[in-house]
Amino acid sequence: MQYTPTAVRLDVKSNLLTVTWSDSHTSRYLGSYLRHVCPCAECRGHAPGEKEPPSLFAVRDVKVVHVEAVGTYAISFRFGDGHTTGIYTYDWMRSMCPTERDDCDDVGAPHASA
Ligand SMILES: [Zn+2]
Repeated sequence: MQYTPTAVRLDVKSNLLTVTWSDSHTSRYLGSYLRHVCPCAECRGHAPGEKEPPSLFAVRDVKVVHVEAVGTYAISFRFGDGHTTGIYTYDWMRSMCPTERDDCDDVGAPHASA
């Protein structure tokens, strides 16, 4: 299935990106969570398992400072730690919706016990 957003909103102050999808699901992502799931080769290597992405805990203070559309299929972010190379397709964004995960809360903050 192809997911498309109907609205993308970054609140820099709360470091929260809100995406509303064409099926009317709403996803909310903390900037630190987006940094954690960055799909770029620098963060993940070129093959599955080649490299460990930064842990949720390691990037917990990282903020999104800028968001930009990439064509019609993706968005990219500039993070407070200077990282810019990730291209987040909307399908990836949707598959990484924090509500689908049990290692973090609904916006992607790690659980206190993590
Ligand atoms: Zn990256």
